[in-house]
Amino acid sequence: MSTVQGRLRIAIQKSGRLSERSLDLIRDAGLKWVKGANDLLYKVENYPIDLLRVRDDDIPTFVADGVCDLGIVGENVLEEDKNGGSHAEVVMPLGFGRCTLKLAVPPTMTYAGPRSLAGLRIATSYPKILQRYLDDQGIGAEIVTMRGAVEVAPRLKLAAAICDLVSTGATLEANGLIAKETVLQSQAVLIKSPTPPEPALQHLLDSIVERMAGVVSSQGAKYVMLNAPRSALDAITAILPGAGAPTVMPLMGRDDAVAVHAVCQEAVFWETLEKLKAAGASAILVLPIEKMM
Ligand code: ATP
Ligand code: ZN
Repeated sequence: MSTVQGRLRIAIQKSGRLSERSLDLIRDAGLKWVKGANDLLYKVENYPIDLLRVRDDDIPTFVADGVCDLGIVGENVLEEDKNGGSHAEVVMPLGFGRCTLKLAVPPTMTYAGPRSLAGLRIATSYPKILQRYLDDQGIGAEIVTMRGAVEVAPRLKLAAAICDLVSTGATLEANGLIAKETVLQSQAVLIKSPTPPEPALQHLLDSIVERMAGVVSSQGAKYVMLNAPRSALDAITAILPGAGAPTVMPLMGRDDAVAVHAVCQEAVFWETLEKLKAAGASAILVLPIEKMM
């Protein structure tokens, strides 16, 4: 495969846990495409960009090699793919696809910390990450690499423990396993090739990255407007979650009160509104933010 002249390429997971949210992000960044007959490639209509739909395991290599300019992949896959060669650069975390790589053991095992795993067999789909973890801890254990169904390994006596991805813990529970250690916290990340695109496309690449950053940071962010007594301004600003310097404006005909507008980067709960009210705020409005740059 070689890079098509005049077009950028973004690698995304074809079908799996990251597919939908990856396409949402790309759509929110203003890209439009038609699902063509070509299953591997979606052609973006309004920009010279193609979406390459592949297995997630292939994404780090495609981006590292410059076959694709950008990619969306789990940190777990990126870490496992790490080797001595050229590698993709992480641009930013995307806030979805969160999961944790955990060590888990059967309840019958006497467990007193990672040392208890010394000399045992551990099944995983992430041998490199696990090996690094064990090395860091100074533990010698045998790693059994499995492509999937890692959680059945202890029952089949293939291994004494497992190291697997967990999001809710339901799969572990269903297999009678207990999570003990966190080996890696993961979420989807945007990655960028170390090879720059052809010069004519650099500006487009930068602008797509900037738009995606805007989409990610506006997620969950809210615009809060309220009226406050001047005397309560400090207390009220302190309650607003994740707000930078708020805008403070005079209210017509009122010397003792002001209007406060702030972008809150964190969720604004009912409890927050109640606290604001108790501190003297009134006419509180919480609005969604559609775009941010
Ligand atoms: P592919 O066919 O593309 O190789 P896959 O089976 O390897 O797919 P998925 O199960 O779709 O991959 O998971 C993709 C990514 O989603 C994982 O690598 C991980 O980053 C993330 N993820 C989020 N929650 C979980 C979870 N509970 N279990 C596994 N992966 C999860
Ligand atoms: Zn995969």
